[in-house]
Amino acid sequence: MEYVEGKGVRRCACRRQSSQSGLITAARIPRRYENCHFNTFRPTNSSQEKAFKFASRLAMDYPAVDRGLLLMGTVGVGKTHLAVSILKGLTERGFTCLFYEFGTLLKEIQNSYNPVSKTSELTVLAPVFNSEVLVLDELGASKPTDWVRDTMAHVINTRYNDRKLTVFTTNYLDRSGDSRDETLQDRIGIRLRSRLFEMSKTLVMSGEDYRRTYDRPLEAASS
Ligand code: ADP
Repeated sequence: MEYVEGKGVRRCACRRQSSQSGLITAARIPRRYENCHFNTFRPTNSSQEKAFKFASRLAMDYPAVDRGLLLMGTVGVGKTHLAVSILKGLTERGFTCLFYEFGTLLKEIQNSYNPVSKTSELTVLAPVFNSEVLVLDELGASKPTDWVRDTMAHVINTRYNDRKLTVFTTNYLDRSGDSRDETLQDRIGIRLRSRLFEMSKTLVMSGEDYRRTYDRPLEAASS
């Protein structure tokens, strides 16, 4: 504890820092996204600029927000970068956050049914339900079997009913460019798509795959 003139005692800076790093660890952000922050995001068009502004506002205004966010767009346009930036901003403000790629969450739930496994479905789901803020990355990427749809609905509806903030990303759009392409509704079903409209603001991010355009090796970039 430290004494602050006129303000009394508060947790000392080192304690605040260690609880902050505890929150970051608990958020389980994959290492490949460790450099994702708002200050490393470089919008390349107006849709990305708009998503960036909305996401940073959300990270500042939470908990005074009425809904979450659904970032839609093709691969590599920065959806996960912004979703992770929101989590980082919120852990810095002391909120409990959790990151899950939807496919990983489904696998962990499936593994919990294995009698040899030491975890139960509830052990996996408790943090998903309880976390103040949750990122569900790559919604719709798993093959939509009945079990997958029921499990998605269970997770999303539980958070909705508990009024918890959820940020989604998906590579599927509401309208497909080509009639052969599947839409988000095709992947997750009409009821769940409609629930997402209720609980989150949908923003479509467009652009090239950032990795291809900007992460060229130095020698390639200079040639
Ligand atoms: P998506 O989730 O849309 O598929 P990602 O957010 O995973 O894309 O982005 C792919 C990679 O490109 C990540 O390393 C991310 O940090 C980086 N990236 C994407 N867009 C931007 C951007 N506008 N500014 C900085 N880095 C970006």
